[in-house]
Amino acid sequence: MPADEFAEFADAVRRIHTDLLDERSGAVADYIKTLQYADPEKFGIAICTADGQVFSIGDTADEFSVQSTSKPFNYAIALEQLGPEEVHRWVGQEQSGGPFNDPLLSLGKDGRPHNPMINAGAIGTLALVDAGKDLSDRFTTVRDTWAAMTGERPQLHGATFLAERETGFGNVMFANALARNGKLYGASPTDRRAPEDATELYTMGCSLTMTAERLAKAGATLANGGVAPLSGQQVFSPETAGQVLSMMGHSGMYNDSGQFSNQVGLPAKSGVSGNVMMVVPSKQLAVVVFSPRLDPAGNSVRGVEVCKRLVNEFGLHPYRST
Ligand code: GLU
Repeated sequence: MPADEFAEFADAVRRIHTDLLDERSGAVADYIKTLQYADPEKFGIAICTADGQVFSIGDTADEFSVQSTSKPFNYAIALEQLGPEEVHRWVGQEQSGGPFNDPLLSLGKDGRPHNPMINAGAIGTLALVDAGKDLSDRFTTVRDTWAAMTGERPQLHGATFLAERETGFGNVMFANALARNGKLYGASPTDRRAPEDATELYTMGCSLTMTAERLAKAGATLANGGVAPLSGQQVFSPETAGQVLSMMGHSGMYNDSGQFSNQVGLPAKSGVSGNVMMVVPSKQLAVVVFSPRLDPAGNSVRGVEVCKRLVNEFGLHPYRST
């Protein structure tokens, strides 16, 4: 991106950050204990362009657990390892029509989870990653992928992992249901290990710590056809990056994904720690907002607002002519 365009974009981000400091609606997630203790005032916005220019304002070095924003990247790893045809034999690619953890609306008629952006689908996706290897090696693959995108190997937030595991009955249930129905890759009806491992890997992946700035570098890898902007490393193929963005485009923002698509039109993923990662594809950039207060759908209130304002100001909505 030319330097003057980048400076203009950064100026807008700085202004929007100031404007939204007084936006205090929403509430922090309370169903995971460590998230309850998040400082609701935190607010950071980071951008990273496909050619590696970074701009940050506010609390962009604060660590948070990445939560659901791990899902697109886990999906990308599975696509790289097995290809889309095999991945989608196990996990669907349609909107779910229900909340991310809904016990009744997560699986389709054929028993597959609707898509990799809901919990059941994320667990089903992770069952594919390094299947047959030890859990520690599989977790290393996930962390190494983050490291390839961001330049740093993320740490596990132990208390978040434990808190999630204590309350993760629903996730255990999904994994067991998939295994019982023959819809969890690598599982046999007499093997308890495959569903346990997939759930554990999912929970560990959600509990990895990230900063807005690092997550923006990961998002920019997707914007850049799978090439990490700072190192130039090809982490994913362009096909994988495109497929992940398409999935984020229709199912990345929980039950407001359709509304978000209408208002913003760009692929995005959010997590209940209050992060939103939006990608402007075709070698443009990624924007990450961290602000823990959530709207009823589970999306960061300020995060969604930042996306809307940037898209409006720069005419980025792909379905609207300006
Ligand atoms: N680890 C969270 C869960 O399984 C993910 C929540 C989210 O960010 O959507 O409930």
